[in-house]
Amino acid sequence: MRVIVVGAGVIGLSVGVRLAEAGHEVAVLARDLPLETTSAVAAALWYPYRALPRDAVVRWSAATYAELARLADTHPESGVSVRWGTELVRGPVTEPWWRDAVPQIEQLPSAPEGYSGGWRLPVPVSDMSLYLPWLAARLESLGATLTRAWLSALPQPSAAVTVVNATGLAARAIADDPSLLPVRGQVVLLEQPGLTEWLLEHSDEQELTYVVPREQVVVVGGTAEDGSYDPRPDPASADEILVRARALVPELRRAKVVGHRVGLRPARPAVRLETEQRGDGTIVHCYGHGGAGVTLSWGCADDVAALVGGLARG
Ligand SMILES: Cc1cc2nc3c(=O)[nH]c(=O)nc-3n(C[C@H](O)[C@H](O)[C@H](O)COP(=O)(O)OP(=O)(O)OC[C@H]3O[C@@H](n4cnc5c(N)ncnc54)[C@H](O)[C@@H]3O)c2cc1C
Repeated sequence: MRVIVVGAGVIGLSVGVRLAEAGHEVAVLARDLPLETTSAVAAALWYPYRALPRDAVVRWSAATYAELARLADTHPESGVSVRWGTELVRGPVTEPWWRDAVPQIEQLPSAPEGYSGGWRLPVPVSDMSLYLPWLAARLESLGATLTRAWLSALPQPSAAVTVVNATGLAARAIADDPSLLPVRGQVVLLEQPGLTEWLLEHSDEQELTYVVPREQVVVVGGTAEDGSYDPRPDPASADEILVRARALVPELRRAKVVGHRVGLRPARPAVRLETEQRGDGTIVHCYGHGGAGVTLSWGCADDVAALVGGLARG
């Protein structure tokens, strides 16, 4: 079957790869090329954050964990690695709701002052500056195409051509979906002082703190501002992020700031992964992954490929 995938963030690219692997003729069209997307801003720690519903998120996250861990092992040039790290918790230390999505997790024996405990676990971390181009190259090596195109509407599907809507936050307009809202996130990039482990603390919904090491830089966050469309980095937020991160990870005190980034997470009451019939064709919607697009990517791509496979078989 011919499939047009609209969107070249982590969702559109992963879906495109799975569809091309299944033998479909895939064309990806996107206004922004991979390194210009929200996906390129992601710290890209595997972690189910701000995405629902929980049962599907656990299933998609588990599938993605397995695939990213496999890529870390077999294709280290993809920019994916598996790193140990710590989640700190204030308040009751209950087992995370996504426990079943990870193969291994341990309770922290002791926690720093101000925290009641936490968890240690290995998870995939993707350096998006490498991973998105790697996905695009994989897509093209499978015979699919990636073309810049700004569409004013989703293409009309037909019996012979299925359309996948992977437009992230832009689905608000292109799929007329007012339930999709931005959750603005800001991060600071620091020089790598030799960190190997990640750290996360999100007891406060708006004021999460995370430190995610890559080979060359450390991504430090963050913010989560519901409803804000402001794409500009805010210097006061950057200062607050740095104060919180440096208090938790003293090695960062010497590290120089090398960049600031902002992205708008596509948040929705539930990820939309379903078919819509239009005329004699089908649109498969796959958007609304909130703060977990990387974490859900392969699980969702598998489900989209299964839906398209079902259509192709008639
Ligand atoms: C600061 C920050 C930190 C984050 N950290 C993490 C993390 O650690 N782990 C994690 O899993 N997730 C994280 N996320 C969330 C993650 O970035 C998103 O869930 C993910 O990027 C969504 O991917 P997407 O492919 O749906 O959308 P996008 O990356 O936004 O891609 C959408 C694509 O659709 C295209 N498009 C839109 N409209 C049109 C149109 N009209 N015509 C043609 N093309 C169109 C765009 O050009 C783009 O190519 C973070 C997000 C932010 C902002």
